[in-house]
Amino acid sequence: MFADLHLHSHFSDGTFTPEEVADRARRCGLGAAALTDHDTVEGGARFLKACSEEGIEGVLGAELTAEEDDTEVHILGYFLDPTHARLSTELAACQQTRQDRIRQMAAKLNDLGIPLRAEAVFELAQCQSPGRPHVARALVTRGHCRSLDEAFQRFLRMGRPAWVPKRRMSAAFAIDLIHDAGGVAVMAHPALTRKDSLIPKLADFGLDGLECWHTKHTAAQTDRYLAQANECRLLITGGSDCHGMSKGRPLIGSVRLPWHYYEELKEAAARRKAANLVDQAAAKS
Ligand code: AMP
Ligand code: FE
Ligand code: FE
Ligand code: ZN
Repeated sequence: MFADLHLHSHFSDGTFTPEEVADRARRCGLGAAALTDHDTVEGGARFLKACSEEGIEGVLGAELTAEEDDTEVHILGYFLDPTHARLSTELAACQQTRQDRIRQMAAKLNDLGIPLRAEAVFELAQCQSPGRPHVARALVTRGHCRSLDEAFQRFLRMGRPAWVPKRRMSAAFAIDLIHDAGGVAVMAHPALTRKDSLIPKLADFGLDGLECWHTKHTAAQTDRYLAQANECRLLITGGSDCHGMSKGRPLIGSVRLPWHYYEELKEAAARRKAANLVDQAAAKS
């Protein structure tokens, strides 16, 4: 049995519904799947219901946008409590700044002579957590660019004229927030972050795991991260980072995490939840 622990839906920049993600996860033979939309858990309840109907294990997760040493780092949270008050407040703030950022990007595009309205992006995105991929799709749909890649290369990549930085929580804050919400915290795709010195640092902050398998990791990189996870006593995870049809063929199931790693992650989350209950009881007495 295998798990794919990094999947996006249309609640952020994926194209599938949570039900489609669950259906495809079962059809490609996965025993467990995690929905990890950017800065939101909105699709989580539907995803868990769909997974149980499909007869597979669903994990409610999120991919938090964080930073350390001026570097953007994505922290995956797994087995989150979606009703947790502090988590809800923080995610709402992230979503608000994402929406403000879309308006700023539209304004920059307008200054460049491209008449794209923020409302057109929101209409297309239909989600609370919009991002650059939605701007790119709007630019293509409206004929301003021929492809998503062109939209990123010309306008949206870091340093390009319509790029706007995101407000990011610190990595330590993200890890603590995930723990507070009963979850386990995993550093996403370290090879894309390209700053391995962050791994021991985040481990000191309480990081639980490292995403060693990822679509964009080479076999050599995966081996290196497996070794580094062992050195830093981190759990080992993996996921395809499937965004649906937005990046050509759906990637779901192309990364298959061996089951015992998934079980260890699940056990860590159970320990976290038990520890949180003890802390809450102590705080009350
Ligand atoms: P944002 O969260 O708004 O900064 O957008 C980041 C997302 O954009 C990533 O999660 C990817 O899904 C997507 N992305 C980044 N670079 C590219 C690219 N060159 N082409 C297509 N999608 C990209
Ligand atoms: Fe994405
Ligand atoms: Fe990411
Ligand atoms: Zn992702």
